[in-house]
Amino acid sequence: MTITQGFEDITNPLQQSALHKKGLCDYVINVASGCLHGCTFCYVPSTPVIRARQSHLKNKGVVDPQMDWGKYLLIRQDVPKKLEDLLSRKRVWHETKAGKGVVLLCSGTDPYQNQQTADITRMVVKILLKYKKKVRILTRGLLWVNDLDILVHPDVTVGMSIPYSNDILSRQIEPASPPPSHRMKALLEGYKAGCRLYVAVAPTPPQLTQDDFTRHLEKLLKFNPEVIFWEPINARGTNGRRMIAAGLDFIKLVINKKSWADSFIKQWEEIETAASDVGCLERLHIWPDQELSEFVEDKALEYWWDRPTVEQWSGYKNQKLKNSSRPEVRKYLKLDPNESAHFV
Ligand code: SF4
Repeated sequence: MTITQGFEDITNPLQQSALHKKGLCDYVINVASGCLHGCTFCYVPSTPVIRARQSHLKNKGVVDPQMDWGKYLLIRQDVPKKLEDLLSRKRVWHETKAGKGVVLLCSGTDPYQNQQTADITRMVVKILLKYKKKVRILTRGLLWVNDLDILVHPDVTVGMSIPYSNDILSRQIEPASPPPSHRMKALLEGYKAGCRLYVAVAPTPPQLTQDDFTRHLEKLLKFNPEVIFWEPINARGTNGRRMIAAGLDFIKLVINKKSWADSFIKQWEEIETAASDVGCLERLHIWPDQELSEFVEDKALEYWWDRPTVEQWSGYKNQKLKNSSRPEVRKYLKLDPNESAHFV
């Protein structure tokens, strides 16, 4: 497999983000374009981060920025310097109720996928902490355990995406990422060092059952994550095509809109039941999808969009939220399956 590697300059290293809708952050920093983990389900190539920069990427030697996802990495080595310059002048800081002014590394790549990205991430975290910013790391990589000297900090929380515990399934879906068992070992190391942790049980493939969720959550609780985010695989855009190209037949179960919504709702209910059974329901934070509005009670969607997580951040007192009990998810399905739209 040919990998295109290089560097790219960016104008603004710190981007305001809509990920407060998911309770994640108000800003993102991406230390590279592309991601060598190349997970088959990855949505990033379908977002403007890649879609709006096709010609730039082609000029850098990337033949097909969508379907070649996982085969290119352009390092943004000037991010630390530009961030230092920016923060030394920046006076206004945008903070939403759910984003809490947090900076996420990263939304469009993996900050700890290799030593190059890890080195930049380390410099960026040090700068953010120097300017008293709150930091959220999100990774499938393991190299963050080498940075525990700076990551064990009240203003930093480290999250790993671990959709399931099954290493064999992981090799089919995300073959270039470290297997879940290795990610769990890294989290255990972080836990023992006193690092604040969270997990994204995301994205889950449709064949997972309530028993799978129960066993998985029991394993995750061993390192005491403060929040457990969840969403299923959403096969729309080129990630659906890439999963089919990778021979992942299960994706056909969720390729039409109604079957996708049915599967989403079923897993949503199952993971809530599993979380209740193992005693971590209050930490489970659902990421619903806008496209569910035909299928799910409005109250259930409104409950989750822009909802602050239960994590505590310095300077923030978690307010008592008005709608504190989880609404019913399911509503009468209006759509005729024969009329349902196809995503791919
Ligand atoms: S690690 Fe994250 S950014 Fe990288 S390919 Fe996988 S899902 Fe996408």
